[in-house]
Amino acid sequence: MSMDVTFLGTGSAYPSPTRGASAIALRFEGACWLFDCGEGTQTQFMKSQLKAGRITKIFITHLHGDHFFGLPGLLCTISLQNSSSASKTPMEIYGPVGLRNFIWKTMELSHSELTFPYIVHELVPTEDQCPPGELKDFSSLDKMDSIPKEIQGRTILLDSAEESYVLVNDEQFLVKAFRLFHRIPSFGFSVAEKERPGRLNAQKLKDLGVPPGPAYGKLKNGVTVVLENGVKVSPQDVLEKPIPGRKICILGDCSGVVGDGGVKLCFEADLLVHEATLDNAHMDKAKEYGHSTPQMAAEFAKMCKVKKLVLTHFSQRYKPHLLSGEGEADDIRELKKQAESVLDFQEVTLAEDFMVIDIPKKKTISIT
Ligand SMILES: [Zn+2]
Ligand SMILES: [Zn+2]
Repeated sequence: MSMDVTFLGTGSAYPSPTRGASAIALRFEGACWLFDCGEGTQTQFMKSQLKAGRITKIFITHLHGDHFFGLPGLLCTISLQNSSSASKTPMEIYGPVGLRNFIWKTMELSHSELTFPYIVHELVPTEDQCPPGELKDFSSLDKMDSIPKEIQGRTILLDSAEESYVLVNDEQFLVKAFRLFHRIPSFGFSVAEKERPGRLNAQKLKDLGVPPGPAYGKLKNGVTVVLENGVKVSPQDVLEKPIPGRKICILGDCSGVVGDGGVKLCFEADLLVHEATLDNAHMDKAKEYGHSTPQMAAEFAKMCKVKKLVLTHFSQRYKPHLLSGEGEADDIRELKKQAESVLDFQEVTLAEDFMVIDIPKKKTISIT
């Protein structure tokens, strides 16, 4: 299964002609999951190779405008474009408490009616995810009724033993959220593909005399078979080693993680996407606003032993690489150097709008 990540917006605070507001798409098997949906995400989709109509899940890291102001517009456009063949599978939206109300109110006030069903699952943050007094209680805004097409979602509490929130657990993926520290509560998401059974080893099958046919399918599915001569063949006799799943971790705005959940869930990730709003020279300012520098991002990546670090959410002062001149102040390439020096010069990627990163399938190891 091919899998790739497309950066649709890599700027902080607001969208500009050179950097859209935060949005990242994870694509696999024709489906698309969106992480954050800053203003203008729908036009970024149109400029990319992706199709917004393929989105099945949306994850919102936190409720700062540059991460979710694009959501109502995107939902309405998907609705318009799919009016005739409305999907029966609900779109699932995950984000902090308050998101359900936001969608409900914008739909009500704009007289918008979606043609597809949707569910909002809300994550309940903890007080230590933001400075004292910054955690707002949105219960007074609670809506009275549900609106057409909205299916009641879950309210997801922190599993304090695991220090995580379980969002998706299906045949293919385990998706969990973990806590980040920011000006308001923010979350990171870990998308872990499940291990898949290894391939059948043709030579072993032949050596053991397993006849081609239904026995192959049984063995592949983990079932022991008994041959006509009475010999028992178990799956481990003929299957190659399982194929490990890939892991992609995407963090929202933060100046650090809260608890151990982040390190546990991002450990040995194939791809870690971390914000680096300002360069190391502005570390105090970055921390004051709940943000990170390349050094801070790389230190976290190093602790987690990740295979690839990608930085994003740059202050609009840093122009994309091709638009910034050599030696210019606020040269984005400085951020790359700053991160790489922490990671013993392991290559770090600076995200740019429409950059696509392939996440290759892992290899199985032969048992011959
Ligand atoms: Zn932001
Ligand atoms: Zn923010």
